Amino acid sequence: MSKPGRHFLHIPGPTNVPDRVLRAMDRALIDHRGPEFAQLTLRLLPRLQKLFKCSGPVVIYPASGTGAWEAALVNTLSPGDKVLMADIGHFASLWKDMADRLGLEAEFLPSDWRRAADPEAIRDRLAADTGHEIKAVCVVHNETSTGCAARLPEIRRAIDDVGHPALFMVDTISSLGSMDYRHDEWKVDVSVGGSQKGMMLPPGMSFNAISQKALDASKTARLPKCYWEWNDMLSANQNGFFPYTPATNLFYALDEALTIIEEQGLDNIIARHERHAEATRRAVHAWGLELVCADPREYSSSLTSIFVPEGYSANALRAQILENFDLSLGTGLARLADRVFRIGHLGDLNDLTLIGAISGVEMGLKIAGIPHNAGGTQAAMDFLAGAEQAEETAPQQAAMA
Ligand SMILES: *Cc1c(COP(=O)(O)O)cnc(C)c1O
Repeated sequence: MSKPGRHFLHIPGPTNVPDRVLRAMDRALIDHRGPEFAQLTLRLLPRLQKLFKCSGPVVIYPASGTGAWEAALVNTLSPGDKVLMADIGHFASLWKDMADRLGLEAEFLPSDWRRAADPEAIRDRLAADTGHEIKAVCVVHNETSTGCAARLPEIRRAIDDVGHPALFMVDTISSLGSMDYRHDEWKVDVSVGGSQKGMMLPPGMSFNAISQKALDASKTARLPKCYWEWNDMLSANQNGFFPYTPATNLFYALDEALTIIEEQGLDNIIARHERHAEATRRAVHAWGLELVCADPREYSSSLTSIFVPEGYSANALRAQILENFDLSLGTGLARLADRVFRIGHLGDLNDLTLIGAISGVEMGLKIAGIPHNAGGTQAAMDFLAGAEQAEETAPQQAAMA
């Protein structure tokens, strides 16, 4: 049955694709080995470098983020290599499982899925690895199952403090384009990105941003690879081409999405995500519900994971909200299944979109009979209205001073 109005898509990816981006894709196919396509590629690659804040190459795969995870590992590592990872949520677990299946020896630092990778634990483990057997530290920047974001500069410092030579690989799939991310400055060796979250694109495209150190490691890495081979990509990319058929129409979408990011300004986009995340957390606190993320230093700006009270079903709540308000929320994953719902607030949205989603959750809590205090939506509105005022008065104060 058709429904009136717009669907409210508030899962933490895929996210809403702006109409401009959808229209940009709606074009006749062109020759991916012709000059027009090559020009498009060569226009996109430097702009992707700006997004990752990197000076080295960025490769584009016609694959979901999982493919770019695999590419990061198989291009840099050899069978039996030790890698250090942190058990901080569902996506970290999937990456670890992949490392094991590829024939790596993944060590998993324990955690309770309520915080991000711990810089201290990484420092201690690397300090103990005096033989430098650990070849890579792999960290999920923004763990999309819990809403916890790693303090990457501190993790970088932990690696440097003990002078450990391990590669630093970061999954930035649900943070790139929404949260502060600096490939070069944080000396990340491989950044893994995906199209369908903060980048406001449909699924089907993913990225590796690659440091010189990672390129050097790729010369001796012995894990089998073909589709993911960086060398083939990098040599074809020089002329704007690909070793196999790229997702051509997604390139038009990427062109338009990058234009939107350039027009709005990446810093403004990051600040907007922080503001929307804070508004969401104010609502959660007012409802008297509990955030999954236990450490305020690690609050994610792109999504918020929320526990339902003991004895209630998060999935029943989500189903009620979908049925009554045509609002999709993220489900609890793995061990958080049915205990947690997630509000995605990343990508193309504004204050009123967010308030619409938050009010849908508040009405849903009431309908589903979940114990909570009223007033969460009001708390979010108060914050957004107050913050708006502060932004407006700031330049005047500066002019008066
Ligand atoms: C979505 C996501 C993935 C998986 O990406 P797919 O595109 O589904 O393959 C990996 N890591 C994080 C942090 C994610 O949010």
